[in-house]
Amino acid sequence: MNTSPTHRPGPADLKRRRTIFYIAASAFIVVALVLIVVLVIEIRARVRDEVETRLQNSAQTQQEGSTDGTLAQNGETSGDASANTSGETSAESSEQNSGESSAESSSESSSESSGEASAARLFATKTEQMSEDEIHKGILQLVNKQHEYLFLDDWLIYMADIETRWGYALNDYEIQMAEPAAYAMDAFLNDFCEETGSWDLYMMNGFRSAEEADWLFNRSAEQNGYEHALMYVMRAGFSEHHTGLASDFGLFSGVYFDAENDDRNNWIYEHAADYGFVLRYPEDKVDITEIGYESWHFRYVSVPVAVSMVQLDYCLEEWLAFIQDYSVDNPYQINAYGTNYAIYYTKGTSVEIPTDMDYTISGDNMEGFIVIVTLP
Ligand SMILES: [Zn+2]
Repeated sequence: MNTSPTHRPGPADLKRRRTIFYIAASAFIVVALVLIVVLVIEIRARVRDEVETRLQNSAQTQQEGSTDGTLAQNGETSGDASANTSGETSAESSEQNSGESSAESSSESSSESSGEASAARLFATKTEQMSEDEIHKGILQLVNKQHEYLFLDDWLIYMADIETRWGYALNDYEIQMAEPAAYAMDAFLNDFCEETGSWDLYMMNGFRSAEEADWLFNRSAEQNGYEHALMYVMRAGFSEHHTGLASDFGLFSGVYFDAENDDRNNWIYEHAADYGFVLRYPEDKVDITEIGYESWHFRYVSVPVAVSMVQLDYCLEEWLAFIQDYSVDNPYQINAYGTNYAIYYTKGTSVEIPTDMDYTISGDNMEGFIVIVTLP
């Protein structure tokens, strides 16, 4: 009687089974990868559609409220007009575009003049001869009621052309920003969406031409009186929006951006400096800025300057006066997110610049230049 139990597989059987297993496993992995790719493409398409839909909706609801001028009409009522909390935390999308943060432009220097590197300095420098025009160009220009913008910068790009734009919408496709501000803005608003789950935010505007400023001012003056217009809407030439460095934020419920409208909006105020932006017209600086509190108006100034302004609690007017005390021989130093910077001011057009370090130079739109050096 054959008591031998079940058939024991021989080496050939084992090999065949192993091969079949490997083929099955490979096929499974391939199918899984294809599914993941399809899923990612689908999510991307849905996010785009969502933003487009919101954009179109906003274009309708915002027809009346798309400018600073309109806000002036609404006055203080706009804040509580609608306490909006649209609960859509829509799909914490796996996509993430936090990559590009502020791209600081640094003006190219072609001067060959060999400067004498002072031993006392943190870095070697050479003398760069700037032009008078360049005083009125760059990311740190002061544009306010006393300081007119001369429209000499040539750095506007369309926000709609920025490929990573997905977590926020634009009031219209014509919105332009200065290039360094545009990429920083994109990272800022995408991260806001990513971190808070809020899709409520959109950029109402950016660059504003002299003609637009004229139109807004005249309309506001007609509707609210000249004094009111002066407080909220700058005359042509004196609006910071001319620089392309500033933008007003709105919410889809049709009101200007304000933390009071949604707790999540606090994230914007707490993190603006991370991306080089500051709330330009704070409530407690109205006597200096001479502009009414604007919870929605953000201005790009670069990361180290924004961090410094927050630390010192200075508005731009104060900070630009403060930095004048620091020269190339005695620069102001600040650490922002692990990077050390030396910042100094030079009056006039003869500016010491680093010979072998990254730096950004900007006119102050008054009498001189600010140099921001990235230290090793
Ligand atoms: Zn504004």
